[in-house]
Amino acid sequence: MTDHKRIDDPELFNDPAFEKFDAPAGSPVRPQQLTLDDTMQFHCHKGVSCFNECCMNIDLTLTPYDILRLARRLQITTTQFLHLFAQTFDLDHHGMPGLKMRPVEGGTACQFVTAEGCSVYQDRPTACRYYAMGTMGMRRKGESRLEDVYFMVQEPHCKGHEAAHALTVREYRREQGVEHYDEMNRDWFDIIVKKRSAGPTVGAPTERSFQLFYLASYDPDGFREFTRSPGFQEMFDLDPAERDALDRDDEALLRFAMRLLKQVLFGESTIPLKEGAAQRRYEQRKAAIEQRWKEQAEKYRLKKPGDEDGE
Ligand code: SF4
Ligand code: SF4
Repeated sequence: MTDHKRIDDPELFNDPAFEKFDAPAGSPVRPQQLTLDDTMQFHCHKGVSCFNECCMNIDLTLTPYDILRLARRLQITTTQFLHLFAQTFDLDHHGMPGLKMRPVEGGTACQFVTAEGCSVYQDRPTACRYYAMGTMGMRRKGESRLEDVYFMVQEPHCKGHEAAHALTVREYRREQGVEHYDEMNRDWFDIIVKKRSAGPTVGAPTERSFQLFYLASYDPDGFREFTRSPGFQEMFDLDPAERDALDRDDEALLRFAMRLLKQVLFGESTIPLKEGAAQRRYEQRKAAIEQRWKEQAEKYRLKKPGDEDGE
């Protein structure tokens, strides 16, 4: 199954000011944009001659909610899931980390495919639910709102297109259970599009921001530990109900993680800081930079500008 939530495909997704949907030449993407009420023809079922073929050569981008659902399904932590089932790639060609499903060792098949079909079917990723339909969030010129664009993907091996089964895009999305997935991932897609729109230099995030992006996006269990750390608690002023939700509710945790990312990456201030937290943070950073300078100076016997008594 190729990845049709093509957030990593620069041909399809790199133009924040798109005017019309345009599939690259030679692509299996049909050059026809669909709305929720348009009708499509497709049916995938166990009796189809190509059963499982789409899971034998995977290229699946994982979303934050995909990882959460799969880890809970497998009863492992999201940290363990990342270690066993994911591999990183460059999401925007400027260092923003993305994740793909890692295929079987030395092969291309999904680790979850069995002779009976998908072993994690109820919790399968967004891209698997959409296939053979694809979708992208795109921004029209002059508009701030993201618009969902749908299209069909017709690969030669997939016989599902031959079935006489017509339904609307809206019905297909409901049938495949993608609505809740899209709702849970919406803020994350917004962040990626906003970052891409900014380009490589405008407001370029630091290495630490990318580390936070990785933790907040892909490792909710690790992020939960981070929200319990003294550094986090000294910085953010959460009311007890929200604190409790972060401890107990995975979806609340994921929503909060996206708010924190927007605050750190774009300065959208929705999480209150404790009084004096910013100043304390500044002092800590200044002290750390001073310490590093001292260490470097000692190492290379450099003289700090303004020092009178260095070597
Ligand atoms: S998660 Fe399931 S549906 Fe998706 S590629 Fe793997 S086996 Fe196929
Ligand atoms: S019909 Fe298409 S989606 Fe269904 S199993 Fe065959 S290749 Fe996969």
